[in-house]
Amino acid sequence: MNVKIIFLGPPGVGKGTQAKEAAAANGVPHISTGDILRAEVDARSDLGTQAKSYMDKGELVPDGLVVEMVAHRLAQPDCSHGYLLDGFPRTMAQAAALEAKLAERGETIDRVLYFSAPDEVLIRRLSGRRTCPNCKAGFHVETMPPKTEGVCDHCGAELIQRADDEPATIKNRLEVYTARTAELIDHYENAGNLTEIDSTGTVDAIADAASEALKT
Ligand code: AMP
Repeated sequence: MNVKIIFLGPPGVGKGTQAKEAAAANGVPHISTGDILRAEVDARSDLGTQAKSYMDKGELVPDGLVVEMVAHRLAQPDCSHGYLLDGFPRTMAQAAALEAKLAERGETIDRVLYFSAPDEVLIRRLSGRRTCPNCKAGFHVETMPPKTEGVCDHCGAELIQRADDEPATIKNRLEVYTARTAELIDHYENAGNLTEIDSTGTVDAIADAASEALKT
């Protein structure tokens, strides 16, 4: 299958969890710019060092850095039969850069899924989120708790809260989303390939809706 998918939506809506599943189900790589940037930060690379100060504050990493990073990732052989982009594009400039790159090869994005939920749901999800610093597995203190509190089910490492999931940073990330990313909803709606997925329900209910939308 050759399918290019974008998962769009505010922080905390659960699109990362859904993206992993949907990418596997469609046999394409899951490309999360947040995950790539966090790996760069952990590796203390030049890009990671530049990105960290923006990420810790909940600001967007500058378009030029992210666009170059994504172009490099999409040029890898595993992307030759499609991919699922999670957390990219996040600005109109990033969307334009992606479209220009695709147009060079006569390609387009096939489907955009827009995961939506009200702010109070997003805040609850973000503030309860816990991550494994070792294997990167994600948990939630209420909705997806680990078997032993504070311990990763998969590798036994102690779970942490991401610096950008602290309350003040959460507020900023939601404001940045409204100011910079929300306009992409209209952009892809006008392009005619956007489906909204109500993301207030359970992980399974959202997964069912997403997989249904990707069938069409
Ligand atoms: P995420 O895991 O998708 O919530 O991303 C975590 C952080 O990485 C964001 O708050 C931004 O600082 C940065 N980031 C991820 N993707 C992008 C992007 N497409 N453009 C700019 N910054 C990004």
